[in-house]
Amino acid sequence: MTPLEYDLLIVGSGPAGATVARYAAEAGLSVLLVDKKQELGAPIQCSGAVSRHALEEVNLPLDEEYILEPIYGFAIYNQVGEATKIDYRKLKEDEYGPEPGKKPLGYVVDRRRFDRYCMTQAERAGVDTWLKTEAKGYAPLPDGRCVVQLKRYNEEIAVTCKVLVGADGLMSQVGKWAGLQTHIKITELAGCLQFIVDNVETEGLLEIITGHEWAPGGYAWVFPKGHGYAEIGLGVIPTMTKQSAQWHLDKFIKQSFFKDRFANSRILEVQGGGVPLAAPLRTQYADNMILVGDAARHVNPITGGGIHTALNGGKIAARFLIDHLAKGGNSFTAADMKGYQDAWLEALGDKMWKLYRKKTAVFHHEDIPTRDAYLYETMSDYFDPNSEYKKI
Ligand SMILES: Cc1cc2nc3c(=O)[nH]c(=O)nc-3n(C[C@H](O)[C@H](O)[C@H](O)COP(=O)(O)OP(=O)(O)OC[C@H]3O[C@@H](n4cnc5c(N)ncnc54)[C@H](O)[C@@H]3O)c2cc1C
Repeated sequence: MTPLEYDLLIVGSGPAGATVARYAAEAGLSVLLVDKKQELGAPIQCSGAVSRHALEEVNLPLDEEYILEPIYGFAIYNQVGEATKIDYRKLKEDEYGPEPGKKPLGYVVDRRRFDRYCMTQAERAGVDTWLKTEAKGYAPLPDGRCVVQLKRYNEEIAVTCKVLVGADGLMSQVGKWAGLQTHIKITELAGCLQFIVDNVETEGLLEIITGHEWAPGGYAWVFPKGHGYAEIGLGVIPTMTKQSAQWHLDKFIKQSFFKDRFANSRILEVQGGGVPLAAPLRTQYADNMILVGDAARHVNPITGGGIHTALNGGKIAARFLIDHLAKGGNSFTAADMKGYQDAWLEALGDKMWKLYRKKTAVFHHEDIPTRDAYLYETMSDYFDPNSEYKKI
């Protein structure tokens, strides 16, 4: 094989792409991972909350290199500040806690260091990685493979591969090149903004604040960030408010039941981005191509969390591709790639669809107090220890 021929070419080195790459390389596939960024994970557009289970499920070592703070549970607030607290240090005190022999439920990770860590693990497994390399298009070839056009620094390069993996995030182009229906409705795209602050006390819980008054169409959050810092943020649906996310965050900080708690906070950093609170794409594959992570809308439509689903989806994608190639598969048509989506639907997708229908039902209520009550109840149920969704 020449250097410009690979089994897989993966576009995007976020958690989804790096996970596909690592698993595939560990199984002996040749993999090129490209990302247009020059610094992975930057600028940070994520709060970094992820369960321990999600990391263990994809064999990622729990490493202080990227972990900022352990998490032991949740506090879900309604509009006036009444809370449902789910603290595993109290629910299962023998199992969860900071003491030796006990464990946390999850972590807040530093996304810049986390993305670099995931990529390093992939590189150590044998993946070739090219930063500052933008994928510009692809086309199937008559011999069953495909050619991908890349721009690496200022050089145009064509690379041949068997399968192109689109792990290129929310604004994914790879699916569009294949003619897939990837459009996201403005009513399902949350505009998120968060401040990294100091002088805000936290207690090892992810705090989620519901209520139209604070975050129309979404919710506000306070997450511990470690080193005495916290993240205060929110996501809003632009069609449900005339104001910007910044206006709502300012109001939440200055007027909510937390205003005294936030009174002496200082803003150290401002981060933002879009989160799709949408259904998974109906078709996540095409000739020589599959989509994974945000690119396939593998995002939890209730919480907006996408790290776990990106990691898990990445593993499912890699397993499918490894299996297909191990069986001597040398055809990579859409019909061949469909098995990936079937595997994903079975493992995760059906639950994601159910969550999407739940979220749609909540926001269908015209009456705001009814909607607020339903969202609070849905969030509290979602994080309940007996929730059927606790592994998503
Ligand atoms: C404000 C905010 C807070 C969030 N907080 C959380 C949270 O606390 N917990 C959680 O689980 N999720 C959270 N999310 C969601 C989470 O960040 C995403 O779901 C997750 O990053 C998706 O991973 P991914 O690998 O699919 O895509 P990404 O992480 O977006 O990676 C895509 C990569 O593709 C690259 N790329 C794109 N196009 C090209 C191209 N043409 N050529 C080369 N490279 C390309 C990009 O540079 C990028 O590095 C949050 C999102 C936002 C906006």
